[in-house]
Amino acid sequence: MAKVLIQDSMSPAQPLLCVVVPCYNEDAVLRETAQRLGALLDELAAMNRIAEKSQILFVDDGSTDDTWQIIRELAAMPGSRAGGLRLSRNQGHQTALLAGLLSAEGDVVVSVDADLQDDLNAIPQMLSNHALGSDIVYGVRSQRESDTALKRITAEGFYRLLDKIGVEILFNHADYRLMSRRAVEALREFDESNLFLRGIVPQLGFPSSVVRYARSERFAGESKYPVSKMLALAWQGITSFSAAPLRLITALGMAVSIISLALGGWALWIRLLTDEAVPGWASVVVPLFLLSGVQLLSLGVIGEYLAKVYVESKRRPRFFVQDRIHPVTECIVTNPRAFDKEVRQSVSGD
Ligand code: UDP
Ligand code: MG
Repeated sequence: MAKVLIQDSMSPAQPLLCVVVPCYNEDAVLRETAQRLGALLDELAAMNRIAEKSQILFVDDGSTDDTWQIIRELAAMPGSRAGGLRLSRNQGHQTALLAGLLSAEGDVVVSVDADLQDDLNAIPQMLSNHALGSDIVYGVRSQRESDTALKRITAEGFYRLLDKIGVEILFNHADYRLMSRRAVEALREFDESNLFLRGIVPQLGFPSSVVRYARSERFAGESKYPVSKMLALAWQGITSFSAAPLRLITALGMAVSIISLALGGWALWIRLLTDEAVPGWASVVVPLFLLSGVQLLSLGVIGEYLAKVYVESKRRPRFFVQDRIHPVTECIVTNPRAFDKEVRQSVSGD
């Protein structure tokens, strides 16, 4: 009886694993990544820890180099576990990852970057945690010596700031994680276009745990996250999950108003009780500038949130799949939308 209950809520003893790898101009590293992931999956399958048909799904995020050709080559190799998904244009890491997660088949899905910075040896540990009941297993970096000092300081400061303003997020966890089928299906219910998966996944609930690993250097190629993209992701993280900046404006507005009132009282006192009242330049110009600044800043932040509502209200599709190679049958599906429907139906059991 107990066994039936466990089987009901968790995946089978040898879960079908799908590893999702978002790739943007990763031709320098892709073959090595595929080789290492393939070897790991072979080993895990030989140990009966995952199902024989476990797969790797490479998501080409509109690359302009040979990434898609390499994915096709990898998928065509005999005995290959690789499949591919090609987005119609570059949508950014978060959306590419979501496209992969929502298209992946299997009982458990692991997402990992293409550049081999995240230690693949954490995957067996993630599977063990999953077998013990975790629906979500977060990969957390125990050290980031391989990152530049600037990246380390800004990234860690960012996690602390998010924590301070009440965003539920795991310190030093990027997007290296395992999710069970039911966690992925729950993620499907989140329809937002402003994606910050690190903030969304903890909101799913379900039992979760952490696996620590050391982050290494990028294997080849250079970072696809320049400062502008990093700042955009940080801003996304703050404004998608916290109204703290809006509240800060209210607090700022109140503080400035109280100071202005006090200043008014003081001016009145000088005017009525002393004869030192020289109509001053500073008393007019300084508050004028200060208040204009505060107002502009406030409008800007309110505008940011309004822009988010605007984008969300349009309910635009978040990505289009241009081509797809099915990992098991190795066939190229010409109508990916029909395929999407198929996957959804088989998942929901219709
Ligand atoms: N990536 C993506 N689309 C983008 C930018 C990056 O799919 O627009 C992928 C990239 O190929 C890699 C992962 O996201 O697999 C993380 O990027 P990167 O390693 O360059 O970031 P960093 O580790 O430097 O923060
Ligand atoms: Mg990287």
